[in-house]
Amino acid sequence: MSGRKVFIHAFGCQMNKLDAELALSALKQAGYEEVASPGEADVILYNTCSVRSHAEQRAYSNIGKLKHLKRRKPHLVIGVLGCMAQKDRESIIERLPHVNIVCGTREFPRIVELIEEARQGASVLACSESGAVSVERDVARRPTRFRAYVSIMRGCDNFCAYCIVPYVRGRETSRPPQDIEDEVRRLVDDGCREITLLGQNVNSYGKSFDRPGALPELLCRLDRIAGLDRLRFVTSHPKDVTREMLQAVRDLPSVCEHLHMPAQSGSDRILSAMNRSYTSGRYRELLALAKELVPGVSVASDFIVGFPGETEEDFERTASLVREARFQQCFVFKYSPRPRTPAARLVDDVSGEDKRRRNIKLLEIQSAVSADEQRTFIGKDVEVLVEGLSKHDPNRLAGRLRTNQIVVFEGPSELAGKLVRVRVTETTPLTLCGALAETG
Ligand code: SF4
Repeated sequence: MSGRKVFIHAFGCQMNKLDAELALSALKQAGYEEVASPGEADVILYNTCSVRSHAEQRAYSNIGKLKHLKRRKPHLVIGVLGCMAQKDRESIIERLPHVNIVCGTREFPRIVELIEEARQGASVLACSESGAVSVERDVARRPTRFRAYVSIMRGCDNFCAYCIVPYVRGRETSRPPQDIEDEVRRLVDDGCREITLLGQNVNSYGKSFDRPGALPELLCRLDRIAGLDRLRFVTSHPKDVTREMLQAVRDLPSVCEHLHMPAQSGSDRILSAMNRSYTSGRYRELLALAKELVPGVSVASDFIVGFPGETEEDFERTASLVREARFQQCFVFKYSPRPRTPAARLVDDVSGEDKRRRNIKLLEIQSAVSADEQRTFIGKDVEVLVEGLSKHDPNRLAGRLRTNQIVVFEGPSELAGKLVRVRVTETTPLTLCGALAETG
């Protein structure tokens, strides 16, 4: 029998990491064993990302380096999966002849069969753009024992001008609610206490089976699962956020009061050029509605600086939004054109230096906001779901609030997976520090 040691690595977003977990589940069911380094493997798989050029360059560099390994081990099977595989298909096989499999975002559930084909000597290209992805998940494989991600939909129909996702992940397809519920139940039965539902645009969940706006119903159904303490969902496109969804966040005990609702810009001119379908005024109204309906809600946002045509005035509008909105967290990206997208046809006219300066300025504004907001927790008792030892300080435990702030404190490692109360004594812009108040 051919060697069954597999090394798999995922670049990019949480969705990509989850897809790598799913591919690995299929491989394990077929008798494969995961190994920790490419050197030990008979099969090497990279699940790639093409949302930003930087992630793509890193993937190409890693795959390029495998040429030498393949020369020493001619039976090695090398597969490129995911968004970059979908986008660059034939050119990967041409440019990197040591690659055996190019498998897009919808075909990785066939990975076992594709490896067998590659072993027969074929160059395998599997990049169909449609179809549901259904994999019997190995629930034991997840980032931490107490937390897991569950995909509820794939693809995106929004075509934001800068974004390659609709071209590489295909049209939006929602998973049937029963499949999702079964998977969540299996995870909870296996000890998982917090689930994050994943989708490019979770607020339009249900559209592909003619029930747009079905997210609140899904949340309601999952909230009834005994033993599930916390339920989250990402990402929320502002244009699809509804009062019903916000009421579900307010009313369902397990659903956390945290939204990831990317604004991308504070300038109406740029939002329109980005094809985001809302204005900064509408975004502010949504924030106000979220704060009115969901007491204590925290909101995280994403921004792109240096989109084509962004002037200093446009950027200042974005900076004002960040000062005003009091986000819990902001992720800021410098614009880079992605091939095939409408924005790639515009002149990329903001200099690298201006993009860098705007990026730093926005992060500085958010850091000051975060520092202020975090200080409001000093002296308060907060509920923390303990995840385990802190990555930065193994003498302390780390966990999160329902509103997503990270908390570190001293305590016995047996508290991992438990809800505890911590009194906050100190804060930084990113972390709350405290001492155990009582166990829950
Ligand atoms: S909503 Fe826009 S930014 Fe998000 S994945 Fe879809 S096209 Fe890309």
